[in-house]
Amino acid sequence: MDTKSYLTALETVQNMYIDGKWVASATQETRKIINPADGEVIGVVTEGTREDVKVAIQAARRAFDKGGWQESKARDRAVLLNKIADLLEQRVEEFASLDTLNNGKPLRESRYDVTDAVNQFRYYAGLCTKPHGVTYDVPDDIQAMVVREPIGVVGQIIPWNYPLVMATQKIAPAIAAGCTVVIKPAEQTPLSLIRLFEIIDEAGFPPGVINLVLGAGECVGAELAESPLVDKVAFTGGTDTGIKIMKAAADTIKKVGLELGGKSPNIVFADADFETAVDYALFAIFSNQGEVCSAGSRLLLEESLYDRFVPELVARAKQIKVGPGADEESEMGPLITAEHMGRVLWFIEEGKKEGATLLCGGNRLTENGLEKGYFVEPTIFTNTTPDMKIVQEEIFGPVLVIQTFQTEEEAIELANGTRFGLAGGVFTSDVAKAHRVIRKLKAGITWINTYHPTFNEAPWGGYKQSGIGRELGTYGYEEYLEIKQINVNLNVQPSGWFKKRQ
Ligand code: NAD
Repeated sequence: MDTKSYLTALETVQNMYIDGKWVASATQETRKIINPADGEVIGVVTEGTREDVKVAIQAARRAFDKGGWQESKARDRAVLLNKIADLLEQRVEEFASLDTLNNGKPLRESRYDVTDAVNQFRYYAGLCTKPHGVTYDVPDDIQAMVVREPIGVVGQIIPWNYPLVMATQKIAPAIAAGCTVVIKPAEQTPLSLIRLFEIIDEAGFPPGVINLVLGAGECVGAELAESPLVDKVAFTGGTDTGIKIMKAAADTIKKVGLELGGKSPNIVFADADFETAVDYALFAIFSNQGEVCSAGSRLLLEESLYDRFVPELVARAKQIKVGPGADEESEMGPLITAEHMGRVLWFIEEGKKEGATLLCGGNRLTENGLEKGYFVEPTIFTNTTPDMKIVQEEIFGPVLVIQTFQTEEEAIELANGTRFGLAGGVFTSDVAKAHRVIRKLKAGITWINTYHPTFNEAPWGGYKQSGIGRELGTYGYEEYLEIKQINVNLNVQPSGWFKKRQ
């Protein structure tokens, strides 16, 4: 489809995909989808309700229990996953444009996301046909073994910051494992996932195996967490929403996977390669407008480097080209909604009130055609204290706070000093020091002399209030599998434990 025709396709109301069919919500209500770069309506989608989700869950239940999917062969599932990858790969530019249009992120980031999504389908297509399961050498004439079985019906709930790739990194392992899926995108950014379901439809999955529901988190998302017919809920989003989901899932002892927020430290020692550390300090916080769970939103700087590092960092931050993501020149796009922009600007005001020093940025950008969009300048605060809101809370925007330290121990204490534990980076030319510090970081994803590289092969997830479980790699696959122990008696005769009396 060329650019013009896919935009035209957005003019019609877009529906949910349930039990192999495109369906509108029972209420016929709709929701407008907005381009954050100019506030224009770019699509209209059906607004699902709890009733619609119940229908989707029942379809997924039937497909798993009676439709033959739980007995499906790994090789057949791999064929379907590879088919999705091939079809998606032919449409990288279209999907990238759609994510940029809907989320606002620069095109180069959207392109990266789509190719990542293609790779996820291929990775899990390959993984599911590989051997898994073990046998044990146990006492007695018993053959003890372990097999993995699909968990069942999984509900998946997605945030708006990576609309396509957050969805595919849940769908691909779940399908590879033999589960059936009901997935819900964020209400703000459903467009690329709806488009992905065209591909899923074309790939030829049996009805009910993968279902798409649309609508508000408090009803459509909540139903996925509450339903007794759902065996696992996998959620990516804010920590406060994660708490609600965990509570909602508790009544049915559902398996829960949570990928939550962060306030990750990026620690720079004085002996780091200067240019590299400045470059990555910017990339850590300002890529994807700072709307990244693992953003290096706290720069922990060794005091002796401060006078050289900070002026260079600020000068470089001021050079970042902010503009519509669809403009190839843009390096940073708009924030997702007017409401979220308001929240980010509120944090900036709180930072000033609490006595932090604003070094650059701090404002909405409204010049040069940006007036209708939700653009905020790259912003840096210094003279912060650990108790400040801007240091403790996830702002989820282009706002960096600087904290300084004198010793390795102090750096570690500051780094671990929030409720989050998602990611962290260390820049130093001392290998032993880098390892010492990384080992002490309470975080699931860490980097030495780099920040942000993420691989589908490696596990993704957080310590502390940043989550439960892992996505990606073999770990992400295991999350969709139950473990069953099978013991086979190789010497079939009575045990004699209870005496047989005449
Ligand atoms: P959010 O928590 O507001 O919403 C995420 C999803 O949850 C949406 O689909 C929403 O509709 C749904 N939802 C909201 N309330 C719900 C409820 N009561 N029950 C069920 N579902 C509900 O998050 P967001 O604003 O879309 O995304 C930003 C957050 O996501 C940030 O905190 C960010 O750190 C986090 N995130 C984490 C990761 C990770 O891998 N750890 C990745 C991306 C984003």
